[in-house]
Amino acid sequence: MNIAIDGPAGAGKSTIAKRSAKELSFIYVDTGAMYRAIALYLLRNDVSPEDEAALTKALSGINIRIAYEDGAQQVYLNDENVSTEIRKEEVGNMASLAATKSPVREKLLALQRDLAASADVLMDGRDIGTNVLPNAELKIYLTASVDVRAERRRKELEEKGETPDIEKIRADIEARDYQDMHRDIAPLKQADDAVWIDSSDMTIEEVVARIVSLAKERR
Ligand code: C5P
Repeated sequence: MNIAIDGPAGAGKSTIAKRSAKELSFIYVDTGAMYRAIALYLLRNDVSPEDEAALTKALSGINIRIAYEDGAQQVYLNDENVSTEIRKEEVGNMASLAATKSPVREKLLALQRDLAASADVLMDGRDIGTNVLPNAELKIYLTASVDVRAERRRKELEEKGETPDIEKIRADIEARDYQDMHRDIAPLKQADDAVWIDSSDMTIEEVVARIVSLAKERR
């Protein structure tokens, strides 16, 4: 069985997907991490995604591998575990830009489909229900208001000891939403058969319970 969860940045997808997968004994696949690993390579090697020839050359030198260690997804970029480094803000922004380019998306599509074919998988991203796994048994579109998403992000950064600027967080979220929703290839949108969940006024536990119950109904 495959479950697809799509939605905008900061909607709580990864936390909710991780917990739902655990309750259902599914494997959690975070596809954003794959885009981030490619972005990290581009940043480190000073490659602009706008430079087609340079991008093609860079992609031929990139090998992305997903592994599970103590149940947690680890992302390897050319055999280096980059799971922590890819979480930086600048890497997320570069990922969103690189994700507009078809050679980048094509490279990751096969990897994502292979993973989904190998087990009961709960996969999150932007185009899972619409493009990667159009036959997923359950599709969720998980969102929350921009204010709520910005506030959650602020809290997260404060917990890490940073002093974030809420207006900047908000502007970043809006810019990322715009870029992900308006690109030509596989833009972020709700699949026709996806269940819409707005988590603005829901706790993590409530959202997880909803997804787990929908998954059990469809098993
Ligand atoms: O979810 P996360 O913030 O880690 O994703 C980083 C970026 O990767 C997103 O902003 C999006 O542009 C891109 N992405 C995508 N398709 C996916 C997953 C992520 O285009 N399935």
